[in-house]
Amino acid sequence: GIQKAKDYVNEVYEAVKKRDPHEKEFHQAVKEIFDSLVPVFVKHPRYMESGVLEQIVEPERIITFRVPWVDDQGKVKVNRGYRVQFNSAIGPYKGGIRFHPSVNASIIKFLGFEQIFKNSLTGQPIGGGKGGSDFDPKGKSNGEIMRFTQSFMTELCKHIDPDTDVPAGDIGVGAREIGYMFGQYKRIMGSYRAGVLTGKGLSYGGSLARTEATGYGTVYFVQEMLKDKGLSFEGKTVVVSGTGNVSIYAMEKATQFGAKVIACSDSNGFVYDRNGINLQTVKKLKEVENKRIAEYVNEHPHAEYYEGCTGIWTIPCDIALPCATQNEIDVNSAKLLVANGVIAIGEGANMPSTLEAIDVFLNNRILFGPAKAANAGGVAVSSLEMAQNSMRLSWTFEEVDAKLQQIMRNIYQNSVKASNEYGHPDNLVVGANIAGFLRVADAMIEQGIV
Ligand code: GLU
Repeated sequence: GIQKAKDYVNEVYEAVKKRDPHEKEFHQAVKEIFDSLVPVFVKHPRYMESGVLEQIVEPERIITFRVPWVDDQGKVKVNRGYRVQFNSAIGPYKGGIRFHPSVNASIIKFLGFEQIFKNSLTGQPIGGGKGGSDFDPKGKSNGEIMRFTQSFMTELCKHIDPDTDVPAGDIGVGAREIGYMFGQYKRIMGSYRAGVLTGKGLSYGGSLARTEATGYGTVYFVQEMLKDKGLSFEGKTVVVSGTGNVSIYAMEKATQFGAKVIACSDSNGFVYDRNGINLQTVKKLKEVENKRIAEYVNEHPHAEYYEGCTGIWTIPCDIALPCATQNEIDVNSAKLLVANGVIAIGEGANMPSTLEAIDVFLNNRILFGPAKAANAGGVAVSSLEMAQNSMRLSWTFEEVDAKLQQIMRNIYQNSVKASNEYGHPDNLVVGANIAGFLRVADAMIEQGIV
C-alpha cells in the first residue's frame, strides 16, 4: 500500500542525508524525485524490491582533482575540478561542465542526478553525468581562461571518451571554453575524436542549432502546455531571468511566437523594458562585448534597471521562464507571481524553483514545466551532435530544429501520459520524474546488479 511505499522512500532518503549531511542541493533534487516515485512503488512493488532506488542515488564514480594554473601576474592558482559519472544504464555519461565559484560536491551531484532523468526523457541513448570547478571566470583574461581550461582537461581527458563520458557546457562554459578543451584533449590523446565533447564550434564538428537548443526547447515545451489549454504565446508578456545562452534563445523564440519579453537579468540586477526587450542589444552586450546588463539602459533610456537579480519576479507577467540558476524562485517569489496572474512557468535553468515554490505553483494550478522536461532540449541536441559526429556528416539547421521540436513534443506527451497513469493529472513534475525514472530503472534491472 501507499504507506509502505512512503516508508520505503523515506528510509532511503534518510540514508542519503546521513551519508552526506551537508549536501542540501543534492538532497533537494533527491527529495523531489523520491516524492514523485511513490505511486510507482504502489503500483509496481517490484521496483521497490529491485534495489534500484538505493543504487540510483549513489554515483557510479566521482572524480575530484587539482586544477593548477598561472594567472597573468605569474602567480600560481589552484582550483578544484569535479566530474561525477552518475549513471550509465542507458548510454555514456552525458552532461555539462560548470565553472562558477559556488561549485562544490553538492551542486555537481544535484546537477548530475537531475541529468539522469532529463537525459532519459529525451529518448536518446545518454546516461547522466556532470562536472565543473569552483573557478570564477568573471574578470579573467582570455589567456587565463585558456590556461585554466587546458589544465582542467589535462586531468579530465583520462576519464572521458566518446563511448564513456561526453561533457558539454553549462554556466561559465560556452563555445570558447569547449574549443580550448577540445584542443587540449586532441593534443594529449593524439587523435581527433569529435564525439568526446558537444557544443563544439561549427568549424570542427559542432551541430547547427545546439546554441539555440535549450532556450528554443523550453519555449517549445511551454507552447505544448499552452496549446493543451487552448492558449498560445501570442500577445503574452514574458519575464525571462538570466542573459546567458539559455535565456537569450528563450527570449528569441518567445518573441518569434508573438510574445513580448519585458525583462531579463544577470547576476548583478535586472532590466525592465515595457516596450519589449531589444534582443540585438542584449546579444551585443552579452555575446560580443562581455558587459553587464545594467548597460542596456544606456541604449534604451526608457528602460529601467534595478540592482539584485531575484527582484525580477516582482514584475507581473503571463509567462515566467527562469533561465538563470538553481533556487532563483523561492516561495515568496512564487506567491507573488501567482498573485500577479502568471499562467505558465517553464524552467530553462536547472532546479530554478525551490520545493516550496513548486508546491505554490501546483496548488494554484499554474501550468508548470519542470526543468528536467522543459530544458532537456539542450542535451537532446547534444545527443544529435554525437550522432552526426558518428556518421561524419552534418544536418541543416532546419533538420536539427525539426528533430528538437519533435523531441520536446514527445517529452511533453510522455510526461502527461505518466502523470495520468500514476494518478497525478496535470502534475508534470510527477509525470516527468516517473517517465524519466522508468526507462533507467528497467535498464538497470535488465543489466543486473554489480
Ligand atoms: N548543461 C546542459 C544541461 O544542463 C547541457 C548538457 C549537455 O549538453 O550535455 O542539460
